[in-house]
Amino acid sequence: MTNNKQTAPVAKNDVLEGEIIDLTHEGLGIVKLGGYPLFIEGALINETVEFKVIKVGKNFGVAKLIKIIKESPDRVEVTDRAYAQTGTMPLQHLTYEAQLTFKKNQVENVLTKIGKLPDVKVNDVIGMDNPFGYRNKAQIPVRKIKDKLETGVFRKNSHDLIPMEDFKIQDPEIDKAVVAVRDIMRKYSVKPYNEKDNTGNLRHILVRRGYHTGEMMITLVTRTPKLFPHSKIVPDILEALPEVVSIIQNVNPKKTNVILGQEVIVLHGEDKYQDKLLNHTFEISHRSFFQVNTAQAEILYSKVLDFAELTGEETVIDAYCGIGTITLALAEKAKQVYGIELIEPAVLDARRNAELNGIENVTYQVGAAEDVMLDWSKEGREADLLVVDPPRKGLEGQFIDAVIKMQPKKMVYVSCNPSTLARDLALLVEGGYTVKTVQPVDMFPQTSHVETIVELVLKGTAG
Ligand code: SAH
Repeated sequence: MTNNKQTAPVAKNDVLEGEIIDLTHEGLGIVKLGGYPLFIEGALINETVEFKVIKVGKNFGVAKLIKIIKESPDRVEVTDRAYAQTGTMPLQHLTYEAQLTFKKNQVENVLTKIGKLPDVKVNDVIGMDNPFGYRNKAQIPVRKIKDKLETGVFRKNSHDLIPMEDFKIQDPEIDKAVVAVRDIMRKYSVKPYNEKDNTGNLRHILVRRGYHTGEMMITLVTRTPKLFPHSKIVPDILEALPEVVSIIQNVNPKKTNVILGQEVIVLHGEDKYQDKLLNHTFEISHRSFFQVNTAQAEILYSKVLDFAELTGEETVIDAYCGIGTITLALAEKAKQVYGIELIEPAVLDARRNAELNGIENVTYQVGAAEDVMLDWSKEGREADLLVVDPPRKGLEGQFIDAVIKMQPKKMVYVSCNPSTLARDLALLVEGGYTVKTVQPVDMFPQTSHVETIVELVLKGTAG
């Protein structure tokens, strides 16, 4: 619509009624008044609600839900009001089944609207049997409230800590560990961080736990290198939490939202713990990226392997490979796999992980995937299969041009952002590829994130 003169048909503080016709990709309810959309948190499709307008912009407004007049059958009652203020489970008021439908619709919408691929079929989203307790990693802020050291979650869009013991989407063993570490910190009167003045000491407690191994890593992020009395704190943690193999102190002196600092002090074990993915063992450091939902990551990677249809003869490129989780899964079934990754420490981890698993047919290249692919396509290198797993911004134009020049027969695109996926698919289709299968997998239940795997084949090749 190009109606620049349009003025909003509502004013701030208006209290109105309306029907929710859709959800935004973040899960906000949309009501339209004379074509003007208002976004309402907590309202669901087909509900009639009473709302108060709190913001009026040129193209859209924001309103606050006051009352549900007609309720959706997909609504789940939210019983934990405090948790609802944190924003960590923005879809918790929707049944899990409806969450999966919402995610599938999102992929269909962007494929039609952005990708101009209305005929492509989208498979049902693969969900979890138990869509809670799935996160293998927690980053818990520490603050002082009423003179007490507390751990919890920040209130949405703020840094006010809401004390919390049950984090719902984290591995329950991690929740217990957070409470145990909190109590030890209280016992020794460790000073909680004060963000306003950049004083105090303990900023965050990070816990990671191997889904298959149960190995636990605790990282204490402090403002100063002093952590008194660590000679007592460390044995207390080990006694309370026998699964702990590594305790790290990470020092972050800056006034910043970034959690980790540069200085690392190893208090117990080494800066690593192990977990498994599809029978490969991975060593993970306190900074490494590792999929947070291990069970669903294994389903995701199995699907990548299904689509890849490897026979043992193929040359494969795995771009955006991180610490090599997909790379090793592919290597077992292919002749040779070339991983490309921007971050050097991740590549060092990837090389060590290949060695740890006795896998020799992988080679890793440090660099920007768009540059490496351009070089390789110019050199006339060939690949039978290209796997990509880019960050949210998707693929660079230069990367897609290089793919079209190199012409791998098959491509598997793993995406964490449906919009950039749809944009990139449109270009790949223009460049000669056909979209064969679109399979979303729910990696982040209760949140609006959507992960999608797409199988593409080059036209004129059997696939
Ligand atoms: N496939 C891995 C990692 C996926 S996350 C896994 O499943 O675990 C995306 C990865 O892309 C990150 O490791 C990030 O460091 C890397 N990355 C980001 N931009 C890049 C670029 N331009 N070129 C290559 N790698 C990039």
